[in-house]
Amino acid sequence: MALATTLGLIATVGFFSWHQEQTLLKQNEFSVRKLNDTVSAGLHSVMLAGSADIAQAFADRIKKVPEIIEFRILRIDGVEAFRDNQTIDAVNLRRGEEEFFRRDDEHVTQVMKPDDPDLRRAVDTTEPVMIYGEDAAGNRQLVLLTPLKNQSSCYKCHGKAKPVRGVLRLATSLTAVERDTLKARQESIAVMGLALLVTVLATGYMLGRIVVRPIEKVTYAMARISGGDLEYKVAERGSDEIGRMGASFNLMVTELQKTDRNLRREQDKLTTVIETATEGMIVTDVAGKVVLVNPAAVELLGRSMEEIVAGGFFEIVEDRGFIEECLRLGTPQDLEYRQRSLEIHAAVIRTGAGQVVGSVALVRDVTEARRLQDELRRLATTDALTGLYNRRFLDATLHTEYNRAVRGRSPLAVIMFDIDHFKRFNDTHGHDLGDRVLQMVARCLRELVRPFDYPCRYGGEEFVAILPGMSAEEAAKLAESLRLKVAQTVIEGLNVHVSLGVAGYPAIQVAGSEELIEAADAALYRAKDSGRNCVMTAGATA
Ligand code: GH3
Ligand code: MG
Ligand code: MG
Repeated sequence: MALATTLGLIATVGFFSWHQEQTLLKQNEFSVRKLNDTVSAGLHSVMLAGSADIAQAFADRIKKVPEIIEFRILRIDGVEAFRDNQTIDAVNLRRGEEEFFRRDDEHVTQVMKPDDPDLRRAVDTTEPVMIYGEDAAGNRQLVLLTPLKNQSSCYKCHGKAKPVRGVLRLATSLTAVERDTLKARQESIAVMGLALLVTVLATGYMLGRIVVRPIEKVTYAMARISGGDLEYKVAERGSDEIGRMGASFNLMVTELQKTDRNLRREQDKLTTVIETATEGMIVTDVAGKVVLVNPAAVELLGRSMEEIVAGGFFEIVEDRGFIEECLRLGTPQDLEYRQRSLEIHAAVIRTGAGQVVGSVALVRDVTEARRLQDELRRLATTDALTGLYNRRFLDATLHTEYNRAVRGRSPLAVIMFDIDHFKRFNDTHGHDLGDRVLQMVARCLRELVRPFDYPCRYGGEEFVAILPGMSAEEAAKLAESLRLKVAQTVIEGLNVHVSLGVAGYPAIQVAGSEELIEAADAALYRAKDSGRNCVMTAGATA
């Protein structure tokens, strides 16, 4: 607004100055013309009176008028008149007698060139010509060329051949006009400056009253609200734009209050959930700084909240690589940490638009769950009475070990054995004692095999030992040791014995694990047939 006002005032002053200068120049031109007309008429009278010799004196006088820089009477060829005898001679020749005396001292001054365009224009058009220019000192001047028309009263001396007899050349200084113009401009600028000052002050005051102060109030209210004071409101005044702005602002604040209340309620709920959750939660902001640690996390990790916050997100379980792996895999990972089995799920938190806003780690104590799982797995693969591996485990393991043996060209042996006349034992001493015998046999087996062997209960009173890396011969020796150990073990004054069949790969070539166990079974039956309480090896003759 101030800029527009300034530009408007500058334009006004510019136009005013220009207009004033034009008016002054016009007035000046008018005066100069009038002066020239007067001089022209005077000269004409002098000439008619036949006093051409005083015309020069007349011209010299006029030069003394202030503001007139130059005044000359020129012939139409640009030479100053009344200085030589050219015209006098021509006139005397025309009149046929010596009418005018010749001059003794002649001066020929070529004031303007004969072909000067301004001179030619004045002569050819018989109209005055104005020339704005500068003198030798650089001062602006106005030169007026006024043609002296050849009238009938002149014909007597000069003939009527030429329409113009001569030209008056009058130069006036424009210094006074320039001075006036400058003064007018300075005054205008002063007035403009004052007007601008008044306008700016008045506008500033009005803007302050109408716009700035109400906006300041709203800005202050915004600062209060952003500082948390949602109860603050602005006074609503008037129904203009500012008044409506205040009302809209208050409406907005009311909506904010509602949203804030709802948010707080949701936050309270969320806080309760987080605080009472049995799952540990650790949340970071986008910069990776830990901003939330719930009590469950403190309890599960066995570290104080300060310790967790200070250590940072990647050190919550003191294993940076583990957390990085969790984030990379995106699925819950198990970790044994401080005598606990923890399941940790770490993930990056993103907004709906996909922008990363932080990270979260959820920590669950799965110690009991893992123990139960292990127990279940053990139960699923273990025989309840003897504690040996059960049949299902045996089938799966034998298959795996056989394939491994074939692949690795390493030996694999199995021993299958059966308690002799166990039905009779049961029938004679009772089923319970029979069970204890089964447990005793299992114990003997367990004590003799290596830690990586698989002692199994095949079913009823039949057992199988899977012996990876063991040859048939070594297995036969082990079987013999087992036979002796069982036979020598006494329960309540009683003892039993067993018959054993051994089969070893690659001592015998079999097509699969089933054939290997069948070969051991066949050897076992050979042992039964051979009178029991002995060891038979598949492929061997005795
Ligand atoms: P053989 O020398 O030919 O093997 O004679 P055997 O009597 O041992 O053979 P048979 O197959 O006729 O009998 C097996 C017996 O094993 C029958 C059954 O009472 C007994 N038995 C099987 N499972 C159990 C068990 O879990 N507990 C007890 N106490 N006895 C069992
Ligand atoms: Mg049997
Ligand atoms: Mg038996």
